[in-house]
Amino acid sequence: MTNNLQGKVALVTGASSGIGEATAIALGKAGASVVIAARRADRLAAVEARLAEEGVKVLTLELDVTDEAACRAAVERAVEAFGGLDVLVNNAGVMLLGGVLGADTEEWRRMVSTNLLGVMYLTHAALPHLIERRGALIQISSTAGRGARPGAAVYAATKFGLNAFSEALRQEVAAQGVRVVVVEPGVVETELREHITDENAKNALEDRIAGMRQLQADDIAAAVLYAVTQPEHVSVNEILVRPTDQL
Ligand code: NDP
Repeated sequence: MTNNLQGKVALVTGASSGIGEATAIALGKAGASVVIAARRADRLAAVEARLAEEGVKVLTLELDVTDEAACRAAVERAVEAFGGLDVLVNNAGVMLLGGVLGADTEEWRRMVSTNLLGVMYLTHAALPHLIERRGALIQISSTAGRGARPGAAVYAATKFGLNAFSEALRQEVAAQGVRVVVVEPGVVETELREHITDENAKNALEDRIAGMRQLQADDIAAAVLYAVTQPEHVSVNEILVRPTDQL
């Protein structure tokens, strides 16, 4: 265990699986106290047990990021438990790929309210605390935040929107010492794609990644750790990480 983040407090959303889980563990192993938040209590309990094994101080919160009041309460509970907040990792997200024509628009609402509004609610609630501790805001975006493809219109819209929100905020809070970091993973082998209901979109994705050596969640956790362990005057604004095989 390194001690780079000793005394720091990190809140990670979507910490019940994939990139969020790996990031919570990486930050905890680096010495941070970690608040893990998501909806699935059983999965969070497993992550909590892994963190406890490593001797990490952990607070587990059941949270649906689409609920603004719950986001605000989660931030307050984190601050009460650990005395402040240094790092917020906005990682919770859904990727319900599919064409625009004939789409189930309820899936659009889920993506916008999770990937975009959820991030905004948490950021709004956490910002005064991040300013107080000259902390860092880590936004898990995507290569879909830099380029749009058919079948990903709404998902890409949420991630482009996230990038725009983050860049404006970076400029807004730079003078107060808060660093805003956008992380843009390419294909990572997680559960994310399992929730796609559009069979054509699912098959197209499977064809695209067949034979590709995909990134693992730990690869993205390492990028987050890099950004948050830089000296205060270094702001890593954007990290794009693709599998070597991804075009
Ligand atoms: P996972 O499906 O493993 O993780 C998604 C996480 O988001 C889960 O922990 C889930 O927890 C949480 N989540 C979803 N909806 C909500 C909600 N309403 N409230 C709270 N938590 C929620 O996939 P990944 O780890 O891959 O995804 C993490 C992030 O990485 C996402 O933002 C995704 O867009 C991004 N990303 C992923 C890529 C990939 O190829 N895998 C590529 C680029 C970006 P629970 O269900 O318990 O609430």
